[in-house]
Amino acid sequence: MTGERHWRYAALSGATALTGVLWYVWWCLAPTGPAALAYLVMPIAGAIAVPAVHALRRDVVLPRAGRRFWLLLEVATVLLTAGYAVLAVAAFRSSPALPYLPLPSTVLIGLGLLAAMIGVGAVPLGVTSWAERGRQWLDRSIAFLGCAVLLGHFGLYPMFAAEQRWSTGVLAVVLMAFLFAAGAVTKVSYIPGGPVDRTAVRLVAGTGLVAAAFALLAVARPEDGSIPAQAVLLPLVPVLITLAALRQRHAPVARTLRSDSWLPYLAMLAADVPLAQVLFGEPRLDTIGEGRLVIGGAALVSTLVSVRQWVVNRDNTRLLHEREASEARLQYDATHDALTGLGNRVLFRERLGAALATTGATVLLVDLDDFNAVNDSLGHDVGDELLIAFAATLRVAAGADGEPARLAGDEFAVLVTTPGVDEAVARRIMTAIAAPISGHRLLVHASAGIASAPAGTAARNLLRDADAAMYTAKQRGKANWIRYAPGMEKPAQAHAQLGGDLRRALDAGEFRLVYQPLVDLRDGRVVGVEALVRWVHPERGTVPPIEFIPAAERTGLIVPLGRWVLRETCRQAAAWLAEFGPDALRKASPNVSVRQLHDPDFVADVRAALADTGLPANRLVLELTESAVLRGHQVLKVLHEVHDMGVRLALDDFGTGESSLSLLRAFPAAIVKLDKSFVDNIEVDEPGSAAAGARQAVARAVVQLADALGLDTVAEGIENQEQADRLLRLGYTVGQGYHLGRPVSAEDFTALLAAQARHPSTVMTVDKDLPAAA
Ligand code: C2E
Ligand code: CA
Ligand code: CA
Repeated sequence: MTGERHWRYAALSGATALTGVLWYVWWCLAPTGPAALAYLVMPIAGAIAVPAVHALRRDVVLPRAGRRFWLLLEVATVLLTAGYAVLAVAAFRSSPALPYLPLPSTVLIGLGLLAAMIGVGAVPLGVTSWAERGRQWLDRSIAFLGCAVLLGHFGLYPMFAAEQRWSTGVLAVVLMAFLFAAGAVTKVSYIPGGPVDRTAVRLVAGTGLVAAAFALLAVARPEDGSIPAQAVLLPLVPVLITLAALRQRHAPVARTLRSDSWLPYLAMLAADVPLAQVLFGEPRLDTIGEGRLVIGGAALVSTLVSVRQWVVNRDNTRLLHEREASEARLQYDATHDALTGLGNRVLFRERLGAALATTGATVLLVDLDDFNAVNDSLGHDVGDELLIAFAATLRVAAGADGEPARLAGDEFAVLVTTPGVDEAVARRIMTAIAAPISGHRLLVHASAGIASAPAGTAARNLLRDADAAMYTAKQRGKANWIRYAPGMEKPAQAHAQLGGDLRRALDAGEFRLVYQPLVDLRDGRVVGVEALVRWVHPERGTVPPIEFIPAAERTGLIVPLGRWVLRETCRQAAAWLAEFGPDALRKASPNVSVRQLHDPDFVADVRAALADTGLPANRLVLELTESAVLRGHQVLKVLHEVHDMGVRLALDDFGTGESSLSLLRAFPAAIVKLDKSFVDNIEVDEPGSAAAGARQAVARAVVQLADALGLDTVAEGIENQEQADRLLRLGYTVGQGYHLGRPVSAEDFTALLAAQARHPSTVMTVDKDLPAAA
């Protein structure tokens, strides 16, 4: 069934109602024909409304609550129509004279009203909170009471008190109609839309008012009131139902509405009308103390309205407070760093902009030195605590002279607007952190850059200057502060550019590996190889790792770069193994940055590199620079996983960092590499040279320690034969250094291995035969 057909229902029932009106007018002017005709209009209109509702139920898919409502409404319409049809028959049989309602009509109409009441009552209100539900009940009670007082006073009571006794059936039906009217009116104001269209329910509720008006009319004119009531008023009930069904068909998407707050006041007004009549109107027969009921009812309504007013006020105030609090909270969150409670970048920029607009400003950019190392080694919790402690330090050091902020990560700033105190603030910061801070008693350093600018300077420029100064401070050995001077931005810019360049270089394949042999000091045979990365820059030529590894570590690019180094080393080592057999080269070692160990994919990368290239795990040695950063729990876990794979680990630059026995024990190392600084001048044997003596002592201690722990050793940076001899005598059997072989390209290293294969017993020193790669 189409919606169009449904319009026809509406038109038809409207026409029926109109016919009723016209008939009544005609009948008033020239009464002809039986008055009972009036009783026909309602059943006819009802007979149109029933299929209208039924068609709606059949055609439109509604949620459960909606289906229930319309089913009950259809039942109600059927019952009402039937009830009035019976009445019409009775009216034709006898002369139509109220207060006469046949019993079947009374029952049918009563049941119909009941069905309608249940239907409207069951429409969900869509209220969730108990507070709101309570408020609604209050509102609805007020509205109901107001309606009841009004209808009771003007409708029901006069009927009860009328001289001409109304039949119990009529009174019951009228009472129900009143209840329905009052209940429906109060309910519809709170229907938010949803399963049943709000307007549709309002139209249905309108039928209650019609019924009430019907009763009032019948009471006002007991002699002939029933004729216009039947012909004009009552047919409006099915018309409204038909329209409601039509409306439901075209219901817009539900939206939530706020409850009508005027309803209680309207109810109060409604209760005041009978009140005024009782108090000031003509006294009338009052057998049951109805006047007092009205006064009591009106007073109750007013009291409830006051209570409601109080509740609403209280809720509004609370809501307002909540909103203010949450707005303040949001504002705070948007401008403050959650971890340290300092102002964040947003707030800092705002304050800086304001300062530069009026007085000019000085900015101290403060950056923790090596914070990433702390984070990596001791974990993020410790890192967070350090940041919190540092923020507190900064707050104290800045005092009233400046406003600290956390800009990002370990980058802080202090905005100083008082002229001439900036260096004092910087000094206070440096002094404060000279002692260990945070619960972990960590000793940290910070570098600071200071820049000032007069009013009118762009904040961006001032920050750029401060950043350049801070970068310079870091370059000059950290733990220091430096004031900006023109020209300082150049190295900082170069540094910033380097990060971008590295990314590009990795994508363009500009990295190469060179290979330096590890040589058996007893017979000169190559026993291993260290892979060292080079950057073959299109303009700058070959760039050594010192110039880009630190930047790669800072930017995180070391992770993909290191992955490539690892793979390439494995691939090359596997190729040499295939070409020269298992005895030619026992191990290949790439360098691994601690940063890589924090990459969650690291273990999988190592496994994949071995699997994909076919290099046996025991031929791979990962070189790690021994440092505090190897201690982290997570790092140790990764190292043990790699160790369990059969891959060996070498502690690089041993003796320079915080070498300690406990580190060697916790760390699953297989090899220690004695740092070059202990090899330099180790051959010098002057009795007076304490330094040389100390170096020898360290070299000896390291080899003894390694022996005791079952570790292999490699002596690094051997530059002449005397050093090689001395180290051999101290107990080192494997060495590495320019004297034994410079880092060379893969092809040259292949040639070296080939030569060694041809002369199995020859002592080799490659640097004399082959050109160095770097
Ligand atoms: P390292 O791991 O200690 O590597 C040894 C460095 O000493 C190499 O410098 C090597 O060329 C140099 N060397 C070897 N023998 C001698 C000698 O007899 N005398 C002197 N003066 N130097 C010698 P290189 O290749 O410039 O590497 C420097 C550092 O860069 C390496 O120190 C290592 O820490 C790092 N590095 C190199 N390649 C990589 C890499 O692929 N990944 C990572 N993470 N770091 C790397
Ligand atoms: Ca190394
Ligand atoms: Ca080394």
